[in-house]
Amino acid sequence: MSLWLSGIGVSRGIAIARVQKVHGGDLDVPEYTLAAADVGDEVQRFLDAHGLAKAQLREVRERIPEGTPGDIAAFIDTHILMMDDRSITDATITHIRNARINAEAALLRTRDALISVFEQMDDAYLRTRRDDVEHVCSRILRILLKSDRQLCARGEQGEPTVVVADDVTPADIILLAQQQVAAFVTEYGGPLSHTAILARSLGIPAVVGLRDARRLLRDNETVIVDGETGHVLADPDELALSFYRDKQRKHARHRAGLVRLKGRDAISRDGVPIRLLANIELPEDARIAEEAGAQGVGLYRTEFLYMNRKELPSEDEQYEAYARIVSAVSGTITIRTLDLGADKQVDSGRSHGPLPTNPALGLRAIRLCLKEPELFRVQVRALLRASSHGRVQIMLPMISNLQEFCQASALIESAREELRAEGKPFAPDVPIGAMIEVPAAAIAAPMLARHARFFSIGTNDLIQYTLAIDRVDDEVNYLYDPLHPAVLHLIRHTIESGRSAGIPVAMCGEMAGDPRFTRLLLALGLTDFSMHPNNILEIKQIVVESDVAKLRAAMQDALERKDPQELRERIALLDQL
Ligand code: PEP
Ligand code: MG
Repeated sequence: MSLWLSGIGVSRGIAIARVQKVHGGDLDVPEYTLAAADVGDEVQRFLDAHGLAKAQLREVRERIPEGTPGDIAAFIDTHILMMDDRSITDATITHIRNARINAEAALLRTRDALISVFEQMDDAYLRTRRDDVEHVCSRILRILLKSDRQLCARGEQGEPTVVVADDVTPADIILLAQQQVAAFVTEYGGPLSHTAILARSLGIPAVVGLRDARRLLRDNETVIVDGETGHVLADPDELALSFYRDKQRKHARHRAGLVRLKGRDAISRDGVPIRLLANIELPEDARIAEEAGAQGVGLYRTEFLYMNRKELPSEDEQYEAYARIVSAVSGTITIRTLDLGADKQVDSGRSHGPLPTNPALGLRAIRLCLKEPELFRVQVRALLRASSHGRVQIMLPMISNLQEFCQASALIESAREELRAEGKPFAPDVPIGAMIEVPAAAIAAPMLARHARFFSIGTNDLIQYTLAIDRVDDEVNYLYDPLHPAVLHLIRHTIESGRSAGIPVAMCGEMAGDPRFTRLLLALGLTDFSMHPNNILEIKQIVVESDVAKLRAAMQDALERKDPQELRERIALLDQL
């Protein structure tokens, strides 16, 4: 009998294949006391397992195929660095010695302590680092428990399978992708988890957050995975199979057809030019953005430079990294200043205090930079110096009032004066803009627009703060609604305020790269969309098929609907225009 399951679709595409359940971090770990004489051997057993886990990861790193997106190699590098970090090894050895317990149990204690630190963090991206700790520790655990079953995405007849796991590590994803895995289904994770990010980068259909998937699905049974809707259908009947095969064929035809759009301008049917920009995080991403035909970078998240290290990056180190990326991008590059929350890994330059109760509402992003002006000054000097290599603009995250914007601008101005006095080159006119991701900033957009040279709407946070839902909390994920009338009004108000003031308004949150919302955003008057480079052609396709004037007229009417359901129906109708 067929069984319908529903998770979160995070990477589009349909897979029809047999189930292959694999191990995840959810391992049965015994705990036992050691005789005093055995403690030394146990420490050695742990160190051997740790060494082997690291060697395995290095091998995976070396086998990453040419052309794989840069963020994938970076994930593996992060895990290798984490293996090198003594906080895992030292703490585990201390547990073995002091509590006289076996290595597996000691490692579990270390893992749980580290995870609880990460769980306190606010920044969504950094919170996904919790998954990294989990993945690294479970790799060592699997070796200690000798349960390191070789991951295999191939079934008994060598056919690709749907891998079902509690979670899969980035390293495992690479191995599975090399074996042409059909799809992933995981029990944990959300749209911002590494599994989701990697699956999207590699174009593998994926559904995450499907609790109990391993209990409900049986090895070898046929399943249909719809990575768009999040549906997983076990043991489908002929009718369902033929429906999804048809959907699969349409999806494949659609993707193949997109290639012809490379090199073509993103101009709507009625002649409105639209700018499609890239969101990037790592220096290698600049190349991917160029290849995808991005007209510039709408968001360069600089946080990666500060991660997994004890010391803050120096001005010169930052300058070199930024200069490399700026030189590699032919259009304008929008560099966002540090957007960190309460983060232990990068806090060598920060004042310490108790962890905030509501980190998402605490000292983060621009607030942290204004509290720690030296942290900000070093980054800004590096950014300004890099501006002499291309067209740079500086974007300030999480602005919630005009004073913050003016204070940050004054600090940037004094960095300019310093560089001028030192005779260091920088571009004479580097625009400073604000991210609009706090409802207060969206509402006060007309006032901010008199000072900012550009806006970029960060819908990930704007939705989180408008609807009061933690964007990384699985329990309230269901409330995350980009179509909520309050969100749409804030987006429209921001776009219109920018237009009245004559400044460009872009959007760099996930919504901008999601084809379900492209027509809606065009209808709201958005002209600059910034997204993961993999989405650019898909969005371009919709742009060139759209009549912006018609969409705008229809939207005007839709937004006047008082009933949210009616508004939703009107929005759905935009797809038919
Ligand atoms: C956003 O909030 O929409 C955004 C783009 O920034 P981040 O996801 O890095 O918070
Ligand atoms: Mg944000």
